[in-house]
Amino acid sequence: MIPADIIAKKRNGEELNPDDLTRFITEFLASHISDAQMSALLMAIYFNGLTEKELIVLVDIMINSGQVLNFQKSEFYVADKHSTGGIGDKTSMILAPFMAAAGIKIPMIAGRGLEYTGGTIDKLESIPEINVTPSLKKFKSWVENIGCAIISQSKNICPADNKIYALRNKTATVPSIPIICSSIMSKKIAEGIMGLVMDIKVGNGAFMKTKRKALQLGKYIKKVGHVYGINVDIIYSNMNQPLGRYAGLSCEVVEAINCMKGDGPKDLIENAFELCSCLLIQSGKASNKKESKQIFEKIINSGIGYDYFQKMISEQGGQLKKIEERNIPKFEKIIRSSKKGTIICMDTEKIGWSLVSLGCGKIKKSDILDYTAGIEFLVKPGDEIKKDSAIYRVFNSDSKKLFLASEMLPDTFKLKE
Ligand code: URA
Repeated sequence: MIPADIIAKKRNGEELNPDDLTRFITEFLASHISDAQMSALLMAIYFNGLTEKELIVLVDIMINSGQVLNFQKSEFYVADKHSTGGIGDKTSMILAPFMAAAGIKIPMIAGRGLEYTGGTIDKLESIPEINVTPSLKKFKSWVENIGCAIISQSKNICPADNKIYALRNKTATVPSIPIICSSIMSKKIAEGIMGLVMDIKVGNGAFMKTKRKALQLGKYIKKVGHVYGINVDIIYSNMNQPLGRYAGLSCEVVEAINCMKGDGPKDLIENAFELCSCLLIQSGKASNKKESKQIFEKIINSGIGYDYFQKMISEQGGQLKKIEERNIPKFEKIIRSSKKGTIICMDTEKIGWSLVSLGCGKIKKSDILDYTAGIEFLVKPGDEIKKDSAIYRVFNSDSKKLFLASEMLPDTFKLKE
């Protein structure tokens, strides 16, 4: 196999043969194929896509690049949720313990920030001492004991996704439908799940900017789910504005906790409910939406959902009590409107890039995350505001980065006077 020939084939729009694709990825993992060659192949896939046959081969290679969980003997329904990524999306942290409280096992492998979108793992790592890269054995035991655990892809589990994910982030090859599909589905299938609910984000802060693209991704995900015998439900949710009142790192964990305690913003609760409802119905715990609503409300109102979250974090070694005292931002700034009017839209992707500038994401591998960083959204589209009204509260612990992010934010909302 000559790597440049494979790249050229895909560049020319030809279908790759399964052996060639398998060897290319295997050799990349063994570092015999360089990052430059892998990036070139990713860009060729970005432009020319993958056939269905190629997609299934790629997913299979990615799953088998590491160890795979097996829950076949489990008497429980084992399932998971995944989102295609957005700004302020903290729903996974709520869904995993809530579904565990309902008796569904959730072995969740989540991602880190990709481009301008936040990653559940980066947010969870703001909890002192949490372990998100356990051995497979430990991960399984956490899921069996507590009912849920959230970990990252790693050298043991989905190493191909782990290595390609980091490269995509640096090479503008993230928003490719087959690549996103293989990244997500390889992780989900490696979990050994029976059911999945997908949250495909649509809008100016999502990788899928249009409903047409989102539906296309949904079709690919369903197809792969079908091949592996996994029940897949999909919701398409709005990412034309951030989800909830906060986006960032530790501030999102705190917002998720408040939501679990019954004090969450409406859009976040609704998103969590829609996704939980799909799994409750899929697993047979509820026979319709009305019943799933009753279960969901009971989980919030009784406090049991939050109890499961505490248990999950503690099992993973995290010191939840220390999250706020360890993550006090040193600086903050209020961004105000220079005009009065009604907010008609937000540039959610740009808000995401300003979060990266603040310290919530990485541009270079050597960048260090600032767990104290984030933005509080003081208004939403549709709100009427006066001149000088506060729009955002921006905070972090690096004044230069705060300045850079603050310069970007006044352009992220449009007013109708
Ligand atoms: N989440 C993932 O795990 N992979 C993607 O490519 C996008 C979102």
